[in-house]
Amino acid sequence: MKNVYDIVIIGAGPAGLAAGLYAARAKMKTLILERDKTGGQIVTTNEVANYPGSIQNATGPSLIARMVEQTEEFGAERKKDTVIDVDFTEKIKVIKGEKEEYKAKAVIIANGATPRPIGCPGERELTGKGVSYCATCDADFFTDLEVFVIGGGDSAVEEAMYLTKFARKVTIVHRRDELRAAKSIQDKAFKNEKMNFMWDTVVEEIKGDGIVESVIFKNKKTEETNEYHADEDDGTFGIFPFVGYKPQSDVFKEKIELNESGYVITDADMKTNVAGVFAAGDIRVKSLRQVVTATADGAIAAVTAEKYIENNFEE
Ligand code: NAP
Repeated sequence: MKNVYDIVIIGAGPAGLAAGLYAARAKMKTLILERDKTGGQIVTTNEVANYPGSIQNATGPSLIARMVEQTEEFGAERKKDTVIDVDFTEKIKVIKGEKEEYKAKAVIIANGATPRPIGCPGERELTGKGVSYCATCDADFFTDLEVFVIGGGDSAVEEAMYLTKFARKVTIVHRRDELRAAKSIQDKAFKNEKMNFMWDTVVEEIKGDGIVESVIFKNKKTEETNEYHADEDDGTFGIFPFVGYKPQSDVFKEKIELNESGYVITDADMKTNVAGVFAAGDIRVKSLRQVVTATADGAIAAVTAEKYIENNFEE
């Protein structure tokens, strides 16, 4: 079957790259599609301390660079394209990209999740103008300024710690009175002199004319609101929401089974409810979304896909 890939992998984060490595190593004709930059969320992470074998100060981008190199060595092809539609109804699956259409015997969905917005007025309009979802990318812009980090999970606290290297003052704004982040991460944050905490507080509105100038906070216990204005000399400050992630599964709605939050349902072998379609990484329903679980998913998905092709397609 000319022009038909054995396996097309959608997404080039740790799950997609690991799947690509395993698939290409098994001599499958493999294509990895990536919408934007290779690496997924992990390239926005400064420190990767909990991936087994990570050396001290290992960064997300350096880990991804090594994964890409390894995947390329085994002959996986990579293309930049945004998937806009899929047809999984026939044995040969069709993936429609903005640039091209791709055909495959098996598909591995590994396009992950994106940061969830807070959802308050002003947030969207001021994104890139003081509101940012990537500390590694944007911390530098806030050198010596004030920064608010919204959320109380691992991401919020780790990214807030990273921001203390640049900002004059970093305040974590959390909707409860205790953090969700792992105890070890919390301990470091409480010891950091540049870190401040605003408990039981949510963001009601972000305001500014072309740049963030003020933010309205609301105390959930007292219901009191107050507007915080940028220091006059600074003119602005940063707001970094880290309130969880949303699966990038809109394109798969009604094509494969998703749960009520939009995550792809798979079995332990990464099979979805459609034969020949597999999923791996953060886009799946799972209990731990980490690089180590994403790469494991990718490996399993590739091996299961390979077996599926062997059993369902003649040479
Ligand atoms: P998360 O664990 O879901 O935490 C989201 C945080 O945002 C929670 O504190 C939540 O408050 C808060 N929140 C949610 N919606 C909100 C809203 N509308 N307004 C204000 N606050 C809101 O998300 P995450 O921190 O991004 O982590 C995602 C996954 O990645 C987790 O499994 C995490 O362990 C993992 N992760 C691990 C590491 C690491 O191990 N080094 C680093 C980063 C991420 P509540 O606490 O009240 O629910």
